[in-house]
Amino acid sequence: MSKPQTDNEKRKQISVRGIAEVEDVNAIKKSFNRHLHYTLVKDRNVATPRDYYIALAHTVKDHLVSRWIRTQQYYYEKDPKRVYYLSLEFYMGRSLQNTMINLGIQSPVDEALYQLGLDIEELEELEEDAGLGNGGLGRLAACFLDSMASLGMAAYGYGIRYEYGIFAQKIVNGEQQEEPDDWLRFGNPWEKARPEYMIPINFFGNVIDTPKGRKWVNTQVVFALPYDNPIPGYNNNVVNTLRLWSAKSPVDFNLKFFNDGDYIQAVLDRNLAENISRVLYPNDNFFEGKELRLKQEYFMCAATLQDIIRRFKAAKFGSKEAIRTNFDYLPDKVAIQLNDTHPSLAIPELMRLLVDVEGLSWEKAWNITVKTCAYTNHTVLPEALERWPVSMLESILPRHLEIIYHINFLHLKNVEKKWPGNMDRMRDMSLIEEDGEKRVNMAHLSIVGSHAVNGVARIHSEIIKDDLFKNFYELTPEKFQNKTNGITPRRWLLLCNPGLSDVISDKIGENWVVHLDELQKIKKWAKDPNFQRAIMKVKQENKLKLAELLEKDYKVKVNPASMFDIHVKRIHEYKRQLLNCMHIITLYNRIKKNPTAKITPRTIMIGGKAAPGYHTAKKIIKLILAVAKVVNNDPIVGDKLKVIFLENYRVTLAEKIIPAADLSEQISTAGTEASGTGNMKFQLNGALTIGTLDGANVEMAEEMGLDNIFIFGMTVEEVEALKKKGYNANDYYSTNPELKQVVDQIQNGFFSPENPNEFRDLSDILMKWDRFFLLADYEAYIKKQDEVGAVYQNQAKWLEMAINNIGSAGKFSSDRTIIEYGKDIWNVQPSYEKLPAPHEPRD
Ligand SMILES: *Cc1c(COP(=O)(O)O)cnc(C)c1O
Repeated sequence: MSKPQTDNEKRKQISVRGIAEVEDVNAIKKSFNRHLHYTLVKDRNVATPRDYYIALAHTVKDHLVSRWIRTQQYYYEKDPKRVYYLSLEFYMGRSLQNTMINLGIQSPVDEALYQLGLDIEELEELEEDAGLGNGGLGRLAACFLDSMASLGMAAYGYGIRYEYGIFAQKIVNGEQQEEPDDWLRFGNPWEKARPEYMIPINFFGNVIDTPKGRKWVNTQVVFALPYDNPIPGYNNNVVNTLRLWSAKSPVDFNLKFFNDGDYIQAVLDRNLAENISRVLYPNDNFFEGKELRLKQEYFMCAATLQDIIRRFKAAKFGSKEAIRTNFDYLPDKVAIQLNDTHPSLAIPELMRLLVDVEGLSWEKAWNITVKTCAYTNHTVLPEALERWPVSMLESILPRHLEIIYHINFLHLKNVEKKWPGNMDRMRDMSLIEEDGEKRVNMAHLSIVGSHAVNGVARIHSEIIKDDLFKNFYELTPEKFQNKTNGITPRRWLLLCNPGLSDVISDKIGENWVVHLDELQKIKKWAKDPNFQRAIMKVKQENKLKLAELLEKDYKVKVNPASMFDIHVKRIHEYKRQLLNCMHIITLYNRIKKNPTAKITPRTIMIGGKAAPGYHTAKKIIKLILAVAKVVNNDPIVGDKLKVIFLENYRVTLAEKIIPAADLSEQISTAGTEASGTGNMKFQLNGALTIGTLDGANVEMAEEMGLDNIFIFGMTVEEVEALKKKGYNANDYYSTNPELKQVVDQIQNGFFSPENPNEFRDLSDILMKWDRFFLLADYEAYIKKQDEVGAVYQNQAKWLEMAINNIGSAGKFSSDRTIIEYGKDIWNVQPSYEKLPAPHEPRD
């Protein structure tokens, strides 16, 4: 097998198309040396690799600046409708390579660094991920920013600048350990603090009557300090802004201590206010009703809305510069998209600003609010739905609670009008849940306060209408929509898989980067041996490169000729990593029973973080590691089966793993995964999928045809029927000997001889109260995996399917998703025009 090309060698090939002009290369070298000298204050004798990375990042960032200023100037002049994407998470990953690619300066930068005798790949590895997200929801926000900029939309991301992002996962003594993600330790060359735009945010206090209406007084103030991050569009000279808020204590915070003379304590206590933006809550699809989290959500919404209204008022309309005071125009000039209910306090906050501060009537303010806001639902899992205790809102946001009560009063009047005397409907649809501790149902608030509500894949949007929000659908059917998720082809193909990008571009040109539907064109070569060979060669190189990384970072040797069977995503019971583990144990038992039987060699990799407080998820990781230890150290098994737990799965690791995958595991219980986006990344990179008819898998199967995907297991309807009939795990356990053996081994400590009860809680869940029906899908899963193994032996068939997968991935570009949001929700059109290129200063 040939040694894989380095990315540097790859980039040289690409640079045959994108010529590196000599003067560009020289300008970059000069700029780099200037930054090393003036910004880093180092010379080449004492500079560390990190100094070089930072000098390089500043050099590349300089290319953004004129475009950034000019884009914002252009928006001010043209005054287009602005799109505001509000999210508690933006899972951005690294910026350096993405910026170079979108700006089209990768070749001259590569050449410049090469001439300077530096290894650009080594420097790129020194950039910390911006891990301000948990999983799919946060990564979706990041992909959307890339698409909105690439489609020329006047869009802004708004979120929190967490000082600590998603924790780093370490595997210690066979289990997950969390380490704080101190990502800002060495500074962040991409951001620009804007202390001049600091905004006061109020908490606590009380509400009084005044001649001008209700007033929120005696509040505690925390400042929101904005940090702007550039979001470059692909090859269009657009640079949008992601504005992240950081909490800053006011100068006079706790001044009363001053008077008591405890100056030191007063200064120390400033930390309390600044804790608001300290750390990302590490829960994926789980609501943990912590007071600090509620403060984070309000802090982000309140700062953002003040900013939105300031920009709305300051807009230049026509040729006149004036203060815009007529809020009737707000829905024509502003669209606010709520990424789940996490930013849903934007609704009562906008009402408060319009009614209490701007003096609009309730009715007028409500019309404007509903027309401006739209809500995206991301899950139907009950444990994930936000339901804040009324008592908590009453103390932290007393005026907002009043507003929510009034919204509810008018909403329930509408319900009563539609269904007179129907108390069940009233109770089910109320924004306030009255059974047990009183709580505000934030999804209900979001639906009522929005003109559009969308799910994130067709099946999910149907479930929302038929089940989760059935009553609301019957009240306002016109609000409900579907917007199937997507991923940006820039990061998830062009950046992470340059080899495959080249093979595709050689056949169909480069237009797929902005019109992913064009990938269809490669399907006509699905059976072409030459094209198959080219695709296979790239996959083999990617696998070899991952194998080298695994050997270096994980000290494990893998067989690159084996099938790379990969399951990476957050660890959650509904995602069923435990089902995958049961397949591994089944394969192991088969090998042990019949060591000479032919089987398709596999390297099965599972990766993902468990929320620190999610005991079952952590136990599942522990089981995978225990099984891996037994399997990998059994000489009978040899090269046939290797099991690897991929530590610290994150955006940057996804970019390395996914291009090397042969098989993608997307095996959630039907009806539980709203969309998934990991599934799309694998498809785009030529892996085949084994999956259930859940989330976007359904539409993937539709795009490529059932011949090109391994679908197994219960449908949503079958899951519902099983729930109705009553699920009994024993029905499956007692009738399938292979399954029985697997469950018994988990139960009796086969994989944990030093602690035979270690995994009893997992076998108890499986047999007694499994909400995700693993045993009901086990047999179908194993059968389908056997089929996968057989097809893998037929290389031509496998490659044909892989090419059909890539060729069918066009629908899953986030560009398509964003165009749909623009058309159906925001009333904003994409623009494929390039802004004029600024003259780059060349010092
Ligand atoms: C895409 C992505 C996810 C989402 O994966 P799913 O399989 O859709 O859950 C999670 N984490 C990271 C780092 C990702 O890149």
